[in-house]
Amino acid sequence: MHEMSIAEGILDIALETMRNNDASIIHSVQLDLGLMSGVEPDALSFCWDAVTKGTPAETSKIDIHTIPITGQCLDCDTIFDVQDYKFICPHCESRLVNTIGGRELQVTSIDID
Ligand SMILES: [Zn+2]
Repeated sequence: MHEMSIAEGILDIALETMRNNDASIIHSVQLDLGLMSGVEPDALSFCWDAVTKGTPAETSKIDIHTIPITGQCLDCDTIFDVQDYKFICPHCESRLVNTIGGRELQVTSIDID
């Protein structure tokens, strides 16, 4: 599963942060996840529970903050949230739209002790 390797990558980051700060437990991890990242939040939560078993992150929670898809019109420069994958400018109805947000997959903070 795609989400499994992503969860493992996030766990590596969390464990490294924990060691670098002389901490011994990971309470929670905050993650920004764009709706166009191709990652399913529910699947990622499920995988997180699986990969953290037997690690200092075993009881931790992953907080997934989903980021909407943002487009910018190439004709009139309007920036807008893309709904239902409709890449059409709400201002001039152009279909020349550049995707400028929604592909994020980034750990934003880690709560450790
Ligand atoms: Zn436009």
